[in-house]
Amino acid sequence: MVLSLGGSPSHPPPAPPAEEPVFEAARARMVRDQLVSRGIRDARVLAALGRVPRQEFLPKPLWAEAYEDGPLPIGHGQTISQPYVVAFMTEALVLRPRDRVLEIGTGSGYQAAVLAWLVAEIYSVELLEPLARRAEATLQRLGYANVKVRAGDGYLGWPEAAPFDAIIVTCAPDQVPEALVDQLKVGGRMIVPVGSQGAAQELVLLRKQPGRLERQAVLPVRFVPMVKSGG
Ligand code: SAH
Repeated sequence: MVLSLGGSPSHPPPAPPAEEPVFEAARARMVRDQLVSRGIRDARVLAALGRVPRQEFLPKPLWAEAYEDGPLPIGHGQTISQPYVVAFMTEALVLRPRDRVLEIGTGSGYQAAVLAWLVAEIYSVELLEPLARRAEATLQRLGYANVKVRAGDGYLGWPEAAPFDAIIVTCAPDQVPEALVDQLKVGGRMIVPVGSQGAAQELVLLRKQPGRLERQAVLPVRFVPMVKSGG
């Protein structure tokens, strides 16, 4: 099956990096066996995950495991998310090519790279400066020009660039941060793992309607906690 992103992209796609064919084959298997088989249906989302070279977001010793079905360590006690969770969260946001998206928890930059295929602009905030700088360098090297990375506290969002069409939070706060709700457009969606450390977390999908917030728990998950800076 050939997957197409459909329509004309709102920005020139990045030049594909030269990679060994073994990675391309493993990635195609990942899309089929981990995503399609578990119910990911959005063709644009499948195509994006079929394109981003996940190995490039990992330390070299882990490249052979790049397309396995789980999270992997990226240093500083943090992890790159499981491909299925990346696909699930991305699909739940129902993204359109002109959208501007806020991500909290840049980590390796992999989720941001997936989003880069699907929307116009991504603003990504990472608390840990060395991870922010490394993700920024990786994204730049691979040609993802529509992602902006900032080192800072994601609880505060990115007010200067708000409002956003969609917000994706990839670390777990114990409650939905108010500042993020404020920075979401009316009609916009946010997906966020909510739950305290050690306790069960639920992926929560929020839809901002005029004067109210719709809330739906969609998947039990396990993310690293969202850390409050200075506290
Ligand atoms: N989306 C990432 C995976 C995220 S791991 C990827 O694709 O690789 C979660 C990240 O959230 C970690 O890098 C962690 O440092 C970061 N984080 C934790 N608390 C944060 C906060 N308050 N603001 C911004 N980032 C935070």
